[in-house]
Amino acid sequence: MPESTKTSEEIRLIVGKGDTLYGLLTDKGVSPLDATSIIRELKPVFSPRNLKSGHILAMTLNRNQATGIIRPRNMEIRTGNSKRYAVRLNGKGEYERIGKSVKIASIPRPLSALRSGGTSRYSRARARIQSSFYQSALAQDLPPGIVNKMTGILSYDVDFQREVNRGDTFEVLYTRQSAKDNGVLYAELVTNRKKHAFYRFKTPDGMVGYYNKNGESAQKAFMRTPVSGARITSRFGRRKHPILGYTKMHTGVDFGVARGTPIYAAASGTIQKAGWAGGYGKYVRIQHSKKLATAYGHMSRIARGIRPGKKVSQGQIIGYVGSTGRSTGPHLHYEIRLSGKPVNPMRYKLAKGSKKLSRKWLALFKKEKSRIDRLRKQIPVATNIASIRN
Ligand SMILES: [Zn+2]
Repeated sequence: MPESTKTSEEIRLIVGKGDTLYGLLTDKGVSPLDATSIIRELKPVFSPRNLKSGHILAMTLNRNQATGIIRPRNMEIRTGNSKRYAVRLNGKGEYERIGKSVKIASIPRPLSALRSGGTSRYSRARARIQSSFYQSALAQDLPPGIVNKMTGILSYDVDFQREVNRGDTFEVLYTRQSAKDNGVLYAELVTNRKKHAFYRFKTPDGMVGYYNKNGESAQKAFMRTPVSGARITSRFGRRKHPILGYTKMHTGVDFGVARGTPIYAAASGTIQKAGWAGGYGKYVRIQHSKKLATAYGHMSRIARGIRPGKKVSQGQIIGYVGSTGRSTGPHLHYEIRLSGKPVNPMRYKLAKGSKKLSRKWLALFKKEKSRIDRLRKQIPVATNIASIRN
């Protein structure tokens, strides 16, 4: 295909704790097939199990503008001691291991690479709100997905309808390259002289959350999105049913996400139902209080040990995304039920009661917080009209 339809991007990332090569590649939009063949090529010299926190992953990603397909042109793992393991895409479109290091500018100090302008892995915006938060955020060229994510993080703490006014300020640090919805590393809003600021942190059990500087979760008693990496494919309310064809009340929110993605308990509670439930397919319902329950439908599989009467804690895996029952493709149907009646999960006011990190995790969080704060200092802010100085 003509070169003009391709864009390429150089990426360097520092491997974090618990990261896998497969996960890092697919997070960047690399197909599972390519990720698998890259790993297979590397295996004779570098086992993916030896990937450790602090290693560097560098690659050049080609994106075909027409198809949106992303393929690494080359990829290299740097394990320190000048050890490098590299693969590249050959003329046949297959990955092959190469003895030599691939041509990506060297980075003795990983963070210094992030200072570069447009191709930097991270972007930062900081501005004063002119009309509405949403408008002012878009005026900073923030991708709508990032603005939505920011709203999601901050809305546990801030009522955007009532509390946010002209003259308030916000800041966001984010990555443009994340294929996932978790591209926001830092979200801040200063309103009524109060600063609401949250840092992204992945706990060692793999859960991504947002925490204030003291390590208190932004999430209150409920997770609004009980699967990670999902986007909403159908909202709560009346809609034309994709299979039945007529207008019908949609009693929950649908999150489109790959089959097999773990589904988390949105809050602690007791399993009330776990099994087949007609159009819902494989289904789990958790009772959280006398009045409040959450329900999860179309699972491919219910997690082991999840059965009526069993207690679960927030964030525990209860099942996996599938397409069982009346469903057109893999997604999670998620409901919040108040006294047996479905309410809009995106609107439902979440009760306070924040989750705190254990001492060990808190120490890890502080490290990540310092890293994010360092990035905030290093990355220049876009200078749109509404920007303010640090
Ligand atoms: Zn649904």
